[in-house]
Amino acid sequence: MLYSSKQKIEKSYDVIVIGAGLAGMTLANKMARDGRSVLLLESHNKLGGFATWFKRKDGEHIFDVSLHGFPAGMIKTCRKYWNKEIADKIHQLKSVRYINPQFQVETDFTKEHFIKVLNQNFGVSLEVVEAFFSELANMNFYDNSQINNGELFEKYFPGRNDITRFLLEPIVYANGSNLEDPAISYGIVFSNFMSKGVYIFQGGTDQMISLMKDELLKNGVDIQLQAKVEKILIENKCTAGVVVKGYQIHCRSVVSNSNLKTTIHKMVGDHHFSSEFLDKAKKVRLNTSSCQVYMGIKKGETIPFVGDLVFTSDDIAFSTDLILSPKIGSQTFSIYYPDTRPHLEPKFAIVSSSNARYEDWKNLTAQEYEARKAFLIERSLSGIEKIIPGVRSKIDFVDAATPLTVERYTLHEQGASFGTKFEGLEVSMSMHKEINGLFHAGSVGIIMSGWLGAANYGVIQAHEVDNYLSRLDKAIR
Ligand SMILES: Cc1cc2nc3c(=O)[nH]c(=O)nc-3n(C[C@H](O)[C@H](O)[C@H](O)COP(=O)(O)OP(=O)(O)OC[C@H]3O[C@@H](n4cnc5c(N)ncnc54)[C@H](O)[C@@H]3O)c2cc1C
Repeated sequence: MLYSSKQKIEKSYDVIVIGAGLAGMTLANKMARDGRSVLLLESHNKLGGFATWFKRKDGEHIFDVSLHGFPAGMIKTCRKYWNKEIADKIHQLKSVRYINPQFQVETDFTKEHFIKVLNQNFGVSLEVVEAFFSELANMNFYDNSQINNGELFEKYFPGRNDITRFLLEPIVYANGSNLEDPAISYGIVFSNFMSKGVYIFQGGTDQMISLMKDELLKNGVDIQLQAKVEKILIENKCTAGVVVKGYQIHCRSVVSNSNLKTTIHKMVGDHHFSSEFLDKAKKVRLNTSSCQVYMGIKKGETIPFVGDLVFTSDDIAFSTDLILSPKIGSQTFSIYYPDTRPHLEPKFAIVSSSNARYEDWKNLTAQEYEARKAFLIERSLSGIEKIIPGVRSKIDFVDAATPLTVERYTLHEQGASFGTKFEGLEVSMSMHKEINGLFHAGSVGIIMSGWLGAANYGVIQAHEVDNYLSRLDKAIR
């Protein structure tokens, strides 16, 4: 059932899920289907977490925040852990383009086409390209390889900054990976993305989340929105429930889909963890954040097809520093044509995304903040004008989100768009070894982030929680 935000919840549950991001929702859905009683608490007034959308000008414009592209694997995950209707609405993007001072490429983002581009556009021998892909394919999550992304590219494509840009730039946008991150974080995501192209949900994020909400309710998940969990209750090293709006709700296990650090340090409290675990948790680095500019095209106006996803840059070479710089040298444009929401009146929208550092936005005066935001908007307008000449006069709504916006809406520390760096995964996965019945599911470790990574991590953790509950059931019998 859907509780109103004012209702006091008196029942107790097998599992309480804190946060309705894709990991939290997928876990809740799977566990309810498997017969567990589940309460899903979300602090926002809608489900989805980062998988979100918003309307402006009385609903005339709808903008998707993170519907830019995900791997084909999402079809299988949605079919298996959600339903066929959701899975069937996932469609492949036709055209992904790169426009930068080093090269211009259009691709369907499949491995086959990447091999062709590396060979024909960048002049790398097929032997080397195949060796590179074979190393990626053989990367194993459990291998303890110390090689980082920069070293991996240097091994196969020495001195080729253009190839590094071609291979890494989309992944920087997809999960915040940089040259210094372990190559495994890149390898897994890259292999995933490259196999069969880039996909989005046709119908828009609003329709997907609405279908997911129906499915959750159908499977018996209790949901409350505007329910911010303040505390996770721990008794005798076991989870006992949560505190929401000053009162307690009891349960046998808790899964936090909130930020990893917030979960440990704020919702549980350091004194409940071993010093060894805390040491590891303190070393976990957060991923960087994002800026976005949302541009709505006037009713009745049209724009030509110029690609679905366009990676643009004015920077003469690729570097992690430049891509994060507030100078916004690099931006990715997601262009939404009417077939993004075929059920609505034909409409176009454009969202530009750039990676950003929280520190560059945090300590500005109100005036500096507004000036930086105005600069960001202008960069996007002039950037899209180069791709679609004349588009500026067709845009009748524009606004921007910064790392502070991301932080405010998702409660992620420092507005981290993709959770934590690689080391966060071990901390997330071992939380239940510290406190019985306490689990975490959500963007961590680069590979468990993004729509597919988060949803799949929800499934993985659902198994863990179920095993824990089964052990409790057996102990009672
Ligand atoms: C700008 C941007 C663009 C992106 N683009 C893409 C893309 O194109 N493709 C892709 O695959 N991924 C993309 N991502 C990443 C992707 O959206 C996320 O990795 C994924 O949606 C995160 O899911 P999650 O389960 O970790 O939870 P989140 O989405 O982080 O959700 C966590 C939820 O928990 C709630 N919560 C937190 N604390 C509490 C509390 N105390 N009580 C109750 N509720 C709480 C929050 O309100 C939130 O709803 C993008 C991200 C950003 C920021």
